[in-house]
Order: sequence, then structure tokens, then C-alpha cells
Amino acid sequence: MLLTTSLQKVKGVGPKTVEQFASAGLHTVGDLIDFLPRKHEDFSEVVKISDIHPGKMTIKARCEKIETRPVRRGLRITTATLVDDSGKLQAVWFNQPYRTTQLAKGDDEFFFSGEFEFNYNKYQLSNPSAEKVTDMPVNTDRLLPVYRSIKGLKSQLVRKILTEIRPLMTMLPETLPQDVIKSEKFISRSEAVLGMHFPKKPEDVLQARERLAFEELFQLLLASQLNKLDNAKLEGWHIPFDQKIVADFVKQLPFELTGAQRRAAWEVIQDFEKMTPMNRLLQGDVGSGKTVVAGLAARQAAASGFQTALMAPTEILSSQHAETLSRLLQPFGVNVGLLTGSVKGAARKTLYEQIKNGSVDVVVGTHALIQETVHFHKLGFVVIDEQHRFGVKQRQELLTKSEHMPHLLAMTATPIPRSLALTVYGELDVSILNELPKGRKPIETKLWSPNSQAQLYAKVDAEIAAGRQGYVICSLIDDNPDNEIKSVQAEFVKLQNSIFKHRRIGLLHGKMKSDEKDEVMSRFSRGDVDILVSTTVVEVGVDVPNATVMIIENADRFGLSQLHQLRGRVGRSSHQSYCYLVMSDSSKPTQRLKEIEKSNDGFYLAEVDLKLRGPGEIYGRSQHGALNLQIATLSDTKLIARAQKQAKSFAASGASLLQYKELAAQVQHYQRLTTLN
Ligand code: ADP
Ligand code: MG
Repeated sequence: MLLTTSLQKVKGVGPKTVEQFASAGLHTVGDLIDFLPRKHEDFSEVVKISDIHPGKMTIKARCEKIETRPVRRGLRITTATLVDDSGKLQAVWFNQPYRTTQLAKGDDEFFFSGEFEFNYNKYQLSNPSAEKVTDMPVNTDRLLPVYRSIKGLKSQLVRKILTEIRPLMTMLPETLPQDVIKSEKFISRSEAVLGMHFPKKPEDVLQARERLAFEELFQLLLASQLNKLDNAKLEGWHIPFDQKIVADFVKQLPFELTGAQRRAAWEVIQDFEKMTPMNRLLQGDVGSGKTVVAGLAARQAAASGFQTALMAPTEILSSQHAETLSRLLQPFGVNVGLLTGSVKGAARKTLYEQIKNGSVDVVVGTHALIQETVHFHKLGFVVIDEQHRFGVKQRQELLTKSEHMPHLLAMTATPIPRSLALTVYGELDVSILNELPKGRKPIETKLWSPNSQAQLYAKVDAEIAAGRQGYVICSLIDDNPDNEIKSVQAEFVKLQNSIFKHRRIGLLHGKMKSDEKDEVMSRFSRGDVDILVSTTVVEVGVDVPNATVMIIENADRFGLSQLHQLRGRVGRSSHQSYCYLVMSDSSKPTQRLKEIEKSNDGFYLAEVDLKLRGPGEIYGRSQHGALNLQIATLSDTKLIARAQKQAKSFAASGASLLQYKELAAQVQHYQRLTTLN
């Protein structure tokens, strides 16, 4: 048997099991060895029911009675009476109706392990795991690995098959450099894998997890170190600093730059002067004024004869940027063009021509920019707005549209927690706008019960009477008969025909034609629409400073970062702004909603979101879903620091990755995923 042996050759694996494994991406013996347990249940300390007390408890009991009943949409509660020879207690599961089938038949004894806590007016064992006593491994301290569930496959069978291939686990190839293992005093890869699948005592799991988590982080950090070294070898464009050009640009701005904007712009200008292409992330909370930093740099680039490409994720945002930049740059004779899917026919042809002959200096657009038909005259500077909305590939394609590697400025309003900044974005230089423009007031955010919408509309109306504008955000476009979630279509009709009859209401959603979207957006910008009823198409970037109030319907349906982004559409002027989060029902608000009500700080919220949902959800599947960290958590800053130190010294030592075949494959995979260019 080899690591590459197909699972179907393993004893006890039938054709059906092979299929089930395959559905989880497991094909070979090696795949299954790498399929590490999600957690370990400790059944070693069993208590009698008569001795139970609040906290994490394990009992050995039979199930006497069990039933499941629906409580409301989306919630089914299963309750059971569990007995041992000392007494009885009640257990409860939420949305695990299969417990009824698992526990109903027979007189089998199970280990139940869960939190014994006070809930709904009584003490109960909450959501306990249940393992049949006769299924438990015998020769361990009753420390049971729990695997991610594979549809149709019992974890019991997974454990049995792992026992079959266990002999192979004693001679796995080493995947960390020996020096690193020695200096960090780690156990070998084989020992670690065995410690995960077949732990004898709790310390085995701890040691194994530490070593394996370190390994994942080390690979990730090494990849970003190597990317950084590769980048340093590239030859870019030299764009010299011209003080007068920059000073004139700053002088004509309708406002004074913040200190943070000045610092960031200066960092970009300095990078322009180097032959190594810039690789910089401009990170600033919503409304911190990133666009003008890009505009200033584009001015400098144009003065030296270089074109700038600015890519934004939506058409609405692209046309808004084109407008803003043309207002700022046209006075200096810098031409700005807009390229999106809706520029068609002769206009598109002319634009292609102008991009090619260099008569357009700054090209703003959606991913239409990366099409093969777009040729630049001399592309020196690439700006990606809301960079987390794009995949690595799209960025790379834009960067290849130049003879030399252009300077890259990636902008994001989603603040990146320090741990991620170190790992995934380790190769980047970072500029931070940690200061809002003068005179901004914190947005007042309030959770709102759906039962008192009348008062809410009165508040919105008062804002409009004072000359301001507002947004109403719904997650759906059309009403769905299966649920009560509000839609923009229905809300638009309702608001226009009754509640806000005396106001001008606009409708915006992603299924509208681009010229319709543009039209309503520019009416809203001009102040000809009082209330814009919109889906999340306005989530990123949209800038209408006169809008000061936002209602988000069914706010519990949105993620934390998304709510923060949406809310960022108000609070863009010196007027006090308000954001009302209307909940779907009057049940208790979620942690997410409480956090967003409490804080306006995108940085803090991103940290919370990272804890609640994990990095993949936040930073876009395209990039980070594939990072696929099994063991490591990006909140373990101590381990990250250790891995960082080792990765740096490994990269600096010039040791060849070729010596480490296993390591190399994984590192190269990460390099492709995390590189910016
Ligand atoms: P974001 O960082 O969210 O992309 P924008 O670049 O859209 O922010 O800027 C938000 C708003 O603030 C815009 O209306 C912009 O004109 C304005 N703005 C930017 N910098 C300043 C400043 N230093 N003082 C006042 N207003 C500013
Ligand atoms: Mg922006």
C-alpha cells in the first residue's frame, strides 16, 4: 500500500463508500491520512447523572424517550430523557432531528457529551454528541477523533478504515525542514498524524495540533516571503516625483487632505521612483478617502507620460469613479475614459483606439478592462478598488497589459486584521488611512423591531425635510412567496404609493439595464431622488455625501462586514448620519447585530467577523477559501510569529525548496493563490 493507492483497494471500502469519499474529495490513502479530525471528544471522565453539575459533562446512559418538534420556521427541537442507574436527565438538540433515528432504537448505551446548562427554565444537557459505547475504540483513553461529516458515511466507518491504513502512517515523509523541527522542538510528521488520528492521551493531540498548525502557517508565510523576493527581481517603470505637479493637484482639491492621506500618497510617490514595481495595499475604512489618493498618484503618472488603469467591481462604482477623477484631473489636461460592458459599438471602438494611442491617460472600468481587445499605450500604474472583490487571476491579467510590470495599488475598505496582514498579505507594503476627513460625526446605529416601522419612517421623513437623502436596503429583488423577506420591488411600490407619496423615490437593483442603473444613480447623486430603494448593489464604494440615513431591512440576513460596508454609504459629510437595522422578527438580536450597533470601527468589526465566520467568508472565496487551513487559526498570533520567523530565515538562507519535495508543492500552490501580480 502506498500513499497514492486508491481507497477502493483498502479492506472494508466498497464501491458505495468510494463514492462517498470521492464526494468529499478523498480518493487516495494519502488523502484520507490528511483528512484530520475536526476535534476530539474526551470521554475519559464520565460522571453519574446523580453527580452532574453545570459545565461540560460526559455521561454514559440510555435514551428512554425522544421526540422532535418544529418550533418555528428553521427551528426544530429534539428532546430526550436519558437514564443511567443513578437517575434521569433531559437532553436537548437544536436542528438535529436525526438524533431521533440514531437514539430511538434499542437499548444501546451511549456516551453523551455536552454542556450541562440552565436553559428555558431548567437544567439540560445541550447539543450533546452521542457515541455508542460498543463503537468506541478500546485501547485508548477514550479520546475520540471527530471527523467532518461526509454525507452518508458513518464516522465509525471512517475510523475503521483509518485503522486499516494506520501502518502507513508510521513512515510518512517529513514536510518541514529538519532545522525547523529541531529548533522548534517539534515531533515528526508521522508522530503528529498518528497523534491526531489515534491519540493515547490529551497531550498527544496538543503536540500534534501545534506541529501541524505551525506547518500550515509556515508554508503560507514562506510562500509570501518567496513572492516578495520574486517581486524584488522584477523590473518596473521609473516614475519620477515632480513636486510642482503634486502641489498643484493638492491645491485645487475642494478640501484639505488628511494627514493619513498625505502619508499614503507620499508612500506611493516614493514607490513610483523605484525600479521595483510597487506592490501596495491601501487600507482605509469606508469613507476615509482612498479615491483621491489614487487620483493624486494617477496625476503624477500622467505627468511622466504613463497611463493609469483603475478597475472597480461594479458598473455603478466605475462610472462614479470616472466622474470623480475626471473632475479632479481634467483641469490639468489629463483625460479620463470609462470602459464598462455598457459602452458599445462605435464608442467602444473609439475608446479602444484612444487607450491604444495614449490619448486617454486614465482608464476606469470594470473587468471589461482585462479583455484581450484592450491594449494600452504605456500602462505604468494599476489601481484595483475594493480589491477583495477580485480574484488573483483578474489582477494578474490587468498587470500583464504592460511591457514592464506596472506599479500596483490595491485598495480595500475591508480592514485586514493584523494576523491576516502578516500571513496572506505578508508580501505587501501597506498604507493605512486611519483617520477620517475632518468634521465627520460617527454614524448613529440602532437595531429596530419590525413592529415599529412607522416611527422609523417618521425619522427618515424628518431628514428629507431637512434637505438630506436616504437609502432603504432590501436583500431581495422580487418578493418570494416562501418567505417574509422584503424585496426592493415591493418596498418601492409601498413607499412610493403610500408612506412617502410626497417624496421622490428611486429603485435600483442588479437586474436593471446599465443605463437605467446609471440614470437613477445620477439622479440620486444630483439630489433629484430623495430615497433610493436598493439591493446591495450600492454596498461598495458608492459616494453620495448628502445621504444621511439608511434603513437596512432584514438586517439579520447580512454579514457583519457587509453591514459595515452598506452603512458606509452614509456618514460621508459633516451632517449627522443614521443607520437603522430592522430585524426580521422580534426575537433576540444576534451577536453580529449587537456588535455593529456598538461599533463604527471597521477594524474592530473585521476582527470580530474573523472570529465569528473565519477568513474564507470575509476575504472572498476566490482567494482564501482555497487556503483551506485545516488546523491553524489565523487568530493564533503567537504561532504566526514563530512561523514567520522561521519562514523568513528559511527564505533568506537561500536554501532550495527542491530539497523538500512535499513542502515545495504546497508552498508553490500558496504562492499562486496569494500573489498579487
Ligand atoms: P472611500 O475610502 O470609502 O473610497 P471616498 O474616496 O469615496 O472614500 O471618499 C469619501 C468622500 O469623502 C468623498 O465624497 C470624497 O470627496 C470625500 N473626501 C475625501 N477626502 C477628503 C478630505 N480630506 N476632506 C473632506 N472630504 C474628503
Ligand atoms: Mg471607495
